[in-house]
Amino acid sequence: MSIDPQQSIKKISPLQAIVFTGTISILIVIAGTVGFLVMQHNLLKNVEKKQACYLELLDFRGKLIEFDLTRTLQHSLHADGNERIISSKQSVAVLRLMYEKILNQMHDAGLQPVAPMHADRQNWAAVLSGENLDLFRFGLDNTIDKAKLESKVATDGLVVINQFFLFFIISVLLTLSITAGWLLHNNYRQTLLPLAQLSGQLKQLNKDIPESIHDTAKEIKKELTETEYSSDITQITESIMSFCDEIEEKNKKLDELHIRDEKTNLYNYRHFKEHLIIDIERAKRHGDKVSLAMIDIDYFKKYNDTNGHIAGDHALKNIADLIVSQCRISDVPARFGGDEFAVLLPETDSVTVREIAERLRKVVSAAQFQNKHQQLASRLTVSIGIATFPGDAPDRETLINNADRALYMAKSAGRNNVVTFASMNTKQSITG
Ligand code: GH3
Ligand code: MG
Repeated sequence: MSIDPQQSIKKISPLQAIVFTGTISILIVIAGTVGFLVMQHNLLKNVEKKQACYLELLDFRGKLIEFDLTRTLQHSLHADGNERIISSKQSVAVLRLMYEKILNQMHDAGLQPVAPMHADRQNWAAVLSGENLDLFRFGLDNTIDKAKLESKVATDGLVVINQFFLFFIISVLLTLSITAGWLLHNNYRQTLLPLAQLSGQLKQLNKDIPESIHDTAKEIKKELTETEYSSDITQITESIMSFCDEIEEKNKKLDELHIRDEKTNLYNYRHFKEHLIIDIERAKRHGDKVSLAMIDIDYFKKYNDTNGHIAGDHALKNIADLIVSQCRISDVPARFGGDEFAVLLPETDSVTVREIAERLRKVVSAAQFQNKHQQLASRLTVSIGIATFPGDAPDRETLINNADRALYMAKSAGRNNVVTFASMNTKQSITG
């Protein structure tokens, strides 16, 4: 199975990246510091040795000059040759010891004497005599110059290594700061930015209630492409989306519960009343007609008494379904209470509503119900009263009252009838 390298890179969280970079940087700094301290110690020792050598050489030259001067003076002042020879012998021995010591020091410091400072150690007295001493001093001066130069070079090297270490520390700190900055920036872009967008959209959504939560979450998801944002934020967005889906689903159910009658699944009285107000107002503005049909089951008490309340509930639901089957999408079929229903028919005149009501009456009358034949006259039927705004009633209260009066008339006329309020005074208005 092959692993997508991009995916494995994405799985490193910003915190892991910071810890990883920090550890590497600390290791580099520790290794660099140890290396620097060792190198600095060696260089310092070398500088000290060379400087000590240089000072010893200067001292030796002073002693040599002093020896030469003393010898010249003694030569001109004292006639007693024995005394002169003794003091001269002592000085020669001292100078030789000094010379031996300097040679060892120079060897230790990595310095080489410049010719003709090389002297014959067996015949040291000869070196210090006459012209030989001048030659030796010439070599000594050159060696001093060389020691001075090498001592300066070593000191400069020490300064350079110190500067280099300072530069190294600054570079590491700079790299660390840039890396941390980059990680923070990336973290901001990958996490905080989308979250800010998300919260902005949700705030907007809160203001703009009719907008779908799900659509908003979908839009956000579209903006969060995999390559640009971290997998964490994409996961958060997905869980918000599913959360929004659930909320939307629950809201729909709540809405339905709020407006529906539990037993018949028709609209409840509250929803019916709200619609009635809205439809009457709209009809007033547009000069339209609104009809209302009040429907009541005939002798339903007897049906309940004969078949029981459960069978009564089933019959109630069956009749509700039949009412819906005869309604148009714009109509509002509702349970008014008990065995009474109301259907609001916007933009419908009295002729059309009467046709619809008549069709419904026939459908109910023909429908099969449990133990229907034990019902009075072997029927389970409905009576329907109709009123139309504005012809039969100038407002919604009167519309309900007049539709109710028409229903009462339908009952009085023997039930299984449709009566329109407009024609209540004329016998022909009763159908069924
Ligand atoms: P009519 O309307 O023809 O005058 O006679 P009715 O027997 O239907 O009389 P009425 O409308 O006054 O009685 C309504 C009956 O409806 C009373 C009650 O038994 C029944 N009813 C009301 N609500 C429910 C219900 O939710 N379930 C059941 N099963 N029956 C109900
Ligand atoms: Mg009834």
